[in-house]
Amino acid sequence: MELEKPAPRNMRELIDLIRRYDYHYYVLDQPLVDDSVYDAKMRELLRLEEEYPQFINAYSPTQRIGGEPSDNFPQVIHRQPLLSLDNAFSQEDLQDFDHRVAKAVSPYDYICELKIDGLSIALIYENGLLINAATRGNGQVGEDVTLNVRTVKSIPLRLLKPIPRLEVRGEIYMPKKEFLRLNRIKEEQGGKVFANPRNAAAGSLRQLQPSVTAQRKLSAFFYEILYIEDAGINITSQEETLNFLKQAGLPVNSHYVKAANIEQVYDFAREFENKRAALPYDIDGTVVKLNRVEGRAALGSTLKTPRWAIAYKFPAAQTMTKLLDIEINVGRTGIIAPTALLEPVSLAGSTVSRASLHNFDLIKEKNLLIGDTVMIHKAGDIIPEVLRPLPELRTGTEKAITPPAACPACGSQALRWEGEVAYRCDNINCPARLKESLIFFASRPAMNIEGLGPSLAEQLVEAGLVNKIEDLYRLTEEQLAGLERMGNKSAVNLINAIMNSRRQPLSRLLTALGIRHVGSKIARVLAEHYNDIHLFFNLKSEQLLEIAEIGPKIAESVVFFFNAPRNAETINNLLAAGVNGKEKASLRASGPLTGKSFVLSGTLENYTREQISVIIQNLGGQISSSVNPKTDYLISGDRPGKKYQQAVKLGVSILDEPELENLIVSCRSQQSAISL
Ligand code: NAD
Repeated sequence: MELEKPAPRNMRELIDLIRRYDYHYYVLDQPLVDDSVYDAKMRELLRLEEEYPQFINAYSPTQRIGGEPSDNFPQVIHRQPLLSLDNAFSQEDLQDFDHRVAKAVSPYDYICELKIDGLSIALIYENGLLINAATRGNGQVGEDVTLNVRTVKSIPLRLLKPIPRLEVRGEIYMPKKEFLRLNRIKEEQGGKVFANPRNAAAGSLRQLQPSVTAQRKLSAFFYEILYIEDAGINITSQEETLNFLKQAGLPVNSHYVKAANIEQVYDFAREFENKRAALPYDIDGTVVKLNRVEGRAALGSTLKTPRWAIAYKFPAAQTMTKLLDIEINVGRTGIIAPTALLEPVSLAGSTVSRASLHNFDLIKEKNLLIGDTVMIHKAGDIIPEVLRPLPELRTGTEKAITPPAACPACGSQALRWEGEVAYRCDNINCPARLKESLIFFASRPAMNIEGLGPSLAEQLVEAGLVNKIEDLYRLTEEQLAGLERMGNKSAVNLINAIMNSRRQPLSRLLTALGIRHVGSKIARVLAEHYNDIHLFFNLKSEQLLEIAEIGPKIAESVVFFFNAPRNAETINNLLAAGVNGKEKASLRASGPLTGKSFVLSGTLENYTREQISVIIQNLGGQISSSVNPKTDYLISGDRPGKKYQQAVKLGVSILDEPELENLIVSCRSQQSAISL
């Protein structure tokens, strides 16, 4: 008797691994590996499942679409499943697909489209108005992202035709330019960068705040009608679908062609493999679809993919090279970032000798050593990136990469604040960030020096007139008049503006000094409590923590800043130049609620959050965002959240809306009694 073969040990491991990749990719939008590694693991699993079909179960990643919809959004059940696509990686794979089609349908032709590397989106229009937008999710259930999609400018809120009901599917993507801009900002802020435009698009669309999505400049293309209710319409092919979508006012990608046979399909794929880099958005392949709708029914679908379409995936443009060394640079905002110096190698049309490594956590995650042979690719088809080392090629002479202890430009301590991945130089006079410090120092919320913008800041630094922020107050009209595009009159005006800025109150000076986590709002809070800059030199964290609005992160940053001798020197020089280091009267109104701190949870019936904050502040009280042992009252509105439970736990007094109104009335009568 022949014994049944046991399932290979690594089959379960492979499933667990792919599930982990899926979670990071679909739910967190932060993939652990690049797509070619993922696709190779998936192919390995498919091969094993072909060999051992008895072990295929419904939970295998080969049987499932995408990731589970997140709990952060309401769920939408799709009218019909939003399927994925089967993949072809070679001309032979395409030919196999063509043979399967030929067996079921005759005659037939294809439509070739670009495979936009974004995320699937399903829209519902009713009487021409956008009423719902949902992600693909797991194919059956998606996430309701209507509010976010309404911020995508290329998606019409109203169609050109008042079709009774139209449900369409397309791809939301992030243009390459926007991806570069977003990652630059993320890097400057010390945050994690997105791995590619697809993850950036998904991360931007699945934001809890639609205002964040709105800033991300997403775009979209549509390619499928999922449902239509319009008596006069009879769509019989993909070509008609695309035309109809265009006429309805939806964006449709213009690069599609009709192909009479699979050779033409392959030619189209090859053509766009070459043109890919020049497109303003990322594509990861082309999609070939049976043109006529009736033929599709004959071919049908599996649980995961239609049998009438297939994605021809471009081979990943990757190559091997050596990681020769690491260069550490300080950016204009003080971020200290590592760059890989590579043995020059040709990749996707250019010679690559450098690649950003973004931050030291990533180096650790990727386990990179100097001297390693590494695989590189171009993220989003544009930015050279080190993917992974090839440890099997190590010789033992490789060297570890350690984060810097000091800023390479000025030697001050390299800092890493809690919750950030980046190391920073926080010396405002560091030569690498002086221009930026100067622009910020002079900006409107800070010292408000009119006329001192980016181009003048650049000239002042380049000409060596400002080597430290405090040099600003030593500038003369003659020095300024010698600068490009600076007449005598402008020089006089600028000197006046600089001199007048010395009178700015302490709160603005604290803002201007660029202390980490201290923006203008926190600067005002600090200046209300300590109205002379000298007081800050002896402050302890615990004292700052007594202020309701100040948490440990801010307290630590303020104490650190005033403890650094070079900052003390800058401040003393500024004061010696006549800068006012004081706040006049308290910015805070005093009244019956002075010293009392309030937190609001839920919504009030008669007041907005802003209105109630102003009323409480006018009576001398303060509003904080979180409940802590220093909180005096929790105002409980409709549907209070976690803050309410926290207040109960800490024994904080809880006021409902009528009780709050009684308190306000009695405080107001106290106030008027005092003023009588
Ligand atoms: P897919 O991206 O391979 O293809 C299907 C999708 O293509 C559709 O859902 C649709 O959204 C999109 N598409 C773009 N243009 C289209 C067009 N013109 N017509 C039709 N569809 C179009 O499949 P998937 O299920 O979305 O994702 C699987 C792929 O995602 C994997 O092959 C892998 O490359 C990647 N992935 C990577 C990781 C990782 O860790 N790196 C993890 C999970 C998935």
